Amino acid sequence: MNIFAAANTKNVFHKGKGGNLYQLDTISNQINLESKMTEFGWNINYISSEGKEKESCEMVNLVHRNNYLDIFRQEKSQTTYLSNGLMLQPSLYPTALEHALIAKRMVDSALKNGSAFSTVGGGHHCEFGMPFGFGLVNTLAISAVYATTLKQRVVILDLDTHYSNGCNDLLHNREDILMTSLWNQSIPAWKYCDSKDNLFHVKVTSSNDYFVELKKLMDKIEDFKPSLFIYHLGFDVLDSDRMGGVHGMNKAKLLLREKLVRKFIDKLQTPYLVYRGGGYVDYRDGELETSARKAGLLEIQMSAIKVYI
Ligand SMILES: [Zn+2]
Repeated sequence: MNIFAAANTKNVFHKGKGGNLYQLDTISNQINLESKMTEFGWNINYISSEGKEKESCEMVNLVHRNNYLDIFRQEKSQTTYLSNGLMLQPSLYPTALEHALIAKRMVDSALKNGSAFSTVGGGHHCEFGMPFGFGLVNTLAISAVYATTLKQRVVILDLDTHYSNGCNDLLHNREDILMTSLWNQSIPAWKYCDSKDNLFHVKVTSSNDYFVELKKLMDKIEDFKPSLFIYHLGFDVLDSDRMGGVHGMNKAKLLLREKLVRKFIDKLQTPYLVYRGGGYVDYRDGELETSARKAGLLEIQMSAIKVYI
């Protein structure tokens, strides 16, 4: 399986209250996972946008408004935070280009080799004109729309715990894309679309309902008969997660979910691509406890990813 990562992730920083620079866990999660994967002997393709700006912009324009990427190219003298919560800085523009390229490479790779994985998230909060939720571009939507230009019939299964406002905004009313998701967290700033037509989403409150609703989603997907399967593997469903959490969803249940999804993909016999999503540890109990939680999260991420590799 080809594994993709963005070359500039390591250059994205955040500024603390005292002016100190550090990396948000949405960034350090990717970097730590990439190190662990390398240590494990997996080869990672780090995608750079050098000389590929035009190709990348074409991908962004498939789903976002004209000049969407200008959001990341402003120059401000004082520290500025964008609508996605990230600090404006020179590394954001090349990183956004890389994410769009990864969205394309993932599809090409899955269609050629059967599967692909990305440490970059699904960008599912990025709407038509605005990025949200730490995302830069909507990689899930770009992959889906790009795949339809290759005559694919695409399904997205988004199992990140947050509402998929961006994908629902960008993909509604498309006959060749079925957008499905289970979620339980949302904020008012995100655009909301009802579950209807080609959008099928359910708010779940506990791990008991979760598996019942997941089965219903799978039935919908099977009826749709996709030729390509796009999966957003959200780790923030864990009930210990700082930003989300489904009541009763422990590590064993998360791994059970992955085994069920993998078995379902095998049954569909479609190529598939997997985006890593979410996963935020609670850091309120001191440094020792936080680093133990981070190690635990890394371990569960590796176990879950192995299900697909
Ligand atoms: Zn999330």
